[in-house]
Amino acid sequence: KRKYILAGNWKMNKTNLEAAEFISKLTAKIGKEKKFEVVIAPTFLALEKAVDLTASTNINVAAQNMHFEDKGAFTGEVSADMLKSLGVNYVILGHSERRNIFGETDEIINKKIKKALEKDLTPIFCIGEKLEEREKDLTFNVIEKQVKEGLYGIEKEDVKKIVIAYEPVWAIGTGKVATPEQAEEVHAYIRKLLSEMFDEDVAESVTILYGGSVKPENYFGLFTKPNIDGGLVGGASLKESFIDLADIMR
Ligand code: 13P
Repeated sequence: KRKYILAGNWKMNKTNLEAAEFISKLTAKIGKEKKFEVVIAPTFLALEKAVDLTASTNINVAAQNMHFEDKGAFTGEVSADMLKSLGVNYVILGHSERRNIFGETDEIINKKIKKALEKDLTPIFCIGEKLEEREKDLTFNVIEKQVKEGLYGIEKEDVKKIVIAYEPVWAIGTGKVATPEQAEEVHAYIRKLLSEMFDEDVAESVTILYGGSVKPENYFGLFTKPNIDGGLVGGASLKESFIDLADIMR
């Protein structure tokens, strides 16, 4: 049985004080007996505080990025060991903003996924097509390339530990959510790809989240689809709406 996750990607938002206030509200509201695991991804600077404040809850903390080398002359970067030493256990990798604004390639993302697995951090591996790719009917081609190159050279037992997040770029921060049918079609395709690349067991084990303009108003149709195992929420994870989502999904 797959793990169900509600994850909040805060991106470059919230000072440490704002983060602490929000997490306190979240922990006050969310009990321990949830069907969904809740994951929050604050900025690097708020990770330590976030781990502290969620210590006795079932809320997990994710970083939004990391470097693929262990250490050294990489100004401005953060390593897997640094994250682990704070008690962080997830890391978002290959987010479309990392790909499109910061130039991360499939090859770089592949190295990061391998390093995260080596260090026992769960990667939340993001993939998704742009609007012009969808309009040219290239969605499946883009997804296939991202999945094959992102997971290149990874053993199947390790692939089972990865969480994939399908985030169509046209739905991120636009208020334009994919329909449950559009999302389910791609999720089913990702699972088919995994079964071809590895086997049925891997395909059935991997948690696949949907992301892109998820809100309490639209979560239900999405998260009741058979191949959608939860969500990666951006804008709505900064507000009470995330607490509402975590609450309804209990
Ligand atoms: P929005 O929920 O703001 O569309 O962002 C989605 C996202 O990028 C999560 O990683």
